[in-house]
Amino acid sequence: MAKCLVTGGAGFIGSHLVDALIERGDEVLIIDNLSTGKREYLNPKAKFFEVDLRDFEKIRPLFEGVDFVFHQAALPRIPLSIEKPAETNEVNIKGTLNALIASKEAKVKKFIYASSSSVLGGNVTLPMREDAPCQPLNPYALQKYVGELYCKVFSEIYGLPTICLRYFNVYGPRQPREGCYVPVIGVFLTQKTQGQPLTITGDGEQTRDFTHVFDVVRANILAMESDKVGKGEVINIGAGRNYSINQIAKMIGGKAIYIPPRPGEMRHTLADISKAKKLLGWQPKIKLKEGIKNLLEDA
Ligand code: NAD
Repeated sequence: MAKCLVTGGAGFIGSHLVDALIERGDEVLIIDNLSTGKREYLNPKAKFFEVDLRDFEKIRPLFEGVDFVFHQAALPRIPLSIEKPAETNEVNIKGTLNALIASKEAKVKKFIYASSSSVLGGNVTLPMREDAPCQPLNPYALQKYVGELYCKVFSEIYGLPTICLRYFNVYGPRQPREGCYVPVIGVFLTQKTQGQPLTITGDGEQTRDFTHVFDVVRANILAMESDKVGKGEVINIGAGRNYSINQIAKMIGGKAIYIPPRPGEMRHTLADISKAKKLLGWQPKIKLKEGIKNLLEDA
């Protein structure tokens, strides 16, 4: 049994991760300020601390005696980062740095960082490999990239074992479904259940590699267990198959309309997942059609 700390453990991905760790029999602490997370997602068997990661003195003692830190907390929406670059910078960069310093001081065994495929930005060659140059297109992508760089530096300078998992468009139960910054599958499901047309941005031919949240959780646990990682490695966590937004709209079904494209977004994403297979023994299990079918049944 390990003692694990999950930042952002009341959020979409973090809460599923907490559930999986508790299921394994691990002791789990959660740090979350409930800015986008929800109280009802909190696992009652975890110890919850309603604290802001920007407040170093408050978070520092919570890391003492912790074996593994899963850093999921962030303000993770591209449009929000364009609207509020300073606030998102504070949470996504300073919050990450605070979590790294507290982890280093507490000598945690591994720091597992939730990064994002968006760090690669423009000019990508598909499938996207981890060693391609990063050219972030928006403040959020830049902030997530700085987090990756900090992880590597903390491994090199302070010997803190770190690993960065670059998630590709995560979807599944508890994904956000309301508000103006919500990702596409959540938007479509809400529109469908409310009998509204699905709003496709741009020409809808942009593609995304959608990854089920349960697969992402499994990758985190493998990253914790694997002794092949811990030097700030960056590893893609994606399904390894991409679909256009038009195809997603068809899978969900119903009338669709086209609205203007959003600024600062990539045209295509598709993960090369050979590194995850090699270093973590991970590969995705849930196919998009199956994942969407399950979401439609529960909607
Ligand atoms: P989410 O918004 O559901 O979860 C983030 C959590 O962090 C929330 O519970 C929120 O309350 C908490 N939080 C925010 N600011 C905080 C602060 N200052 N102090 C303490 N807690 C704070 O988002 P998510 O989709 O679950 O994303 C989790 C992580 O995965 C993020 O780091 C995000 O950048 C990364 N990621 C997500 C996706 C995706 O498709 N969802 C893709 C790539 C990367």
